[in-house]
Amino acid sequence: MFNLILFGPPGSGKGTQSEKIVKTYRLEHISTGDLLRDEVSRKTPLGVEAKKYMDQGLLVPDEVVIGMISSKIDEKHGARGFIFDGFPRTRAQAEALDKLLEFKDTQIHIVLSLEVPEEHLKKRLIGRGETSGRTDDNEMVITERIKEYHAKTSSVAAHYAAHNKLERVKGDGTIDDTFKLLSKQIDKYLLPA
Ligand code: ADP
Repeated sequence: MFNLILFGPPGSGKGTQSEKIVKTYRLEHISTGDLLRDEVSRKTPLGVEAKKYMDQGLLVPDEVVIGMISSKIDEKHGARGFIFDGFPRTRAQAEALDKLLEFKDTQIHIVLSLEVPEEHLKKRLIGRGETSGRTDDNEMVITERIKEYHAKTSSVAAHYAAHNKLERVKGDGTIDDTFKLLSKQIDKYLLPA
């Protein structure tokens, strides 16, 4: 199994790049943002609870997200590997993920961190808001999401850097430029399927 985390601030292109990686390497995509939005649209108890946080640009509590990930990993057993997108977003989530994978005799092989200058992030997100239909892509909530990233998520990189698993990748070129840079790193572990 090969497991990868695509890391980076809101608007760094994780969703777009994940789609391309999934197609090329046949990994299972786990996006906590997508999973949460699905719960919200189905108005499940989890979704109703999560929406309160998401609408304010705040992180959903760790225990909610960790439980969701755990059942998703179980559901996809036999997968070639996973790409985690938007997860882990706190140290507690990173530690929980390490434990979950260890229990399955596997691990995170690499964390690819998309590096995009701060001033591009907001512009991209506001642009996306015009077509995405996402209620959290408006300027006020975007500012909160970026704040949460600096307060709680950016330190997750240090956790993986300490285990020599972090690779920084320039994320402000074209979609294809960025994909090439990411592929170069993934190819060290796994050939395209
Ligand atoms: P972006 O990366 O553009 O912020 P996401 O789709 O990853 O978008 O996340 C949208 C929202 O969903 C976040 O602002 C947060 O409220 C919630 N969320 C997603 N993933 C997590 C997570 N791993 N932990 C806590 N909250 C999360």
